[in-house]
Amino acid sequence: MPAPPCPPVTLTPIGHIESDYPDKFGVPRQPGLADAARARLVLTAPFDDPLAVRGLEAFSHLWITFLFHLSPERWTPLVRPPRLGGNARIGVFASRSTHRPNRLGQSLVELEGIDTDDSGVRLRLRGVDLVDGTPVLDIKPYLPWAESRPEARTGFAPAPPPRLPVRINRAAQAALDTRPDAESLRALIHQVLAQDPRPAYRRGAEERIYGVRLRDVDVRFRALEDSGETRLEVVEIVMV
Ligand code: SAM
Repeated sequence: MPAPPCPPVTLTPIGHIESDYPDKFGVPRQPGLADAARARLVLTAPFDDPLAVRGLEAFSHLWITFLFHLSPERWTPLVRPPRLGGNARIGVFASRSTHRPNRLGQSLVELEGIDTDDSGVRLRLRGVDLVDGTPVLDIKPYLPWAESRPEARTGFAPAPPPRLPVRINRAAQAALDTRPDAESLRALIHQVLAQDPRPAYRRGAEERIYGVRLRDVDVRFRALEDSGETRLEVVEIVMV
């Protein structure tokens, strides 16, 4: 007897993400690729009950289910993953595309700690791939014995994206050095730019200056080429 089709459902966010990424451009394509990125998951009432996270501190990693709230609601059966150069088309359910039915995302992230006080409950996370303000729909502890499958076939995404050499020029270094978070921001800049945030169809050297927003700065960079190898150079770091 086929099950009746499920009617549309309403989901209520349990909280939201505060992250180092004010907008989508430059955010790593998956979690763990920039572990210098710090984030907080702020639970909202009535889900901000400390009882709801009792025991969670005993897990080092969490699944975060969230809404790609900056993606359009419309979806198409075929998408063009950046990993395939932005031209080849593949089924949306064979991808981790941000443009998908119901706009649901899931990320496996490291839990650094849980803060509960009068202002509520906040989870300190590491290495997220989520834009600041992302609505969170669910949290689950990660169970490697059930979910880690190193033997799995991984289609068109067999390994992390390649990394490019990144250099921060003297003027940008000087701007960085004046900041109290200089070390962690420097690490974040290197980790984010190494993944070449430019659109997939842009490769090799370019005159164009790009800007990636991280925390409260705009990191301006360009792509250079040395003996056939592309590298990125940070030319300016501007407070925004
Ligand atoms: N790990 C998740 C998954 O597999 O469902 C997300 C993968 S998706 C390719 C990661 C990208 O989503 C980031 O590079 C960023 O550009 C985008 N993104 C992050 N937060 C978003 C949001 N709230 N709305 C729309 N896009 C978002």
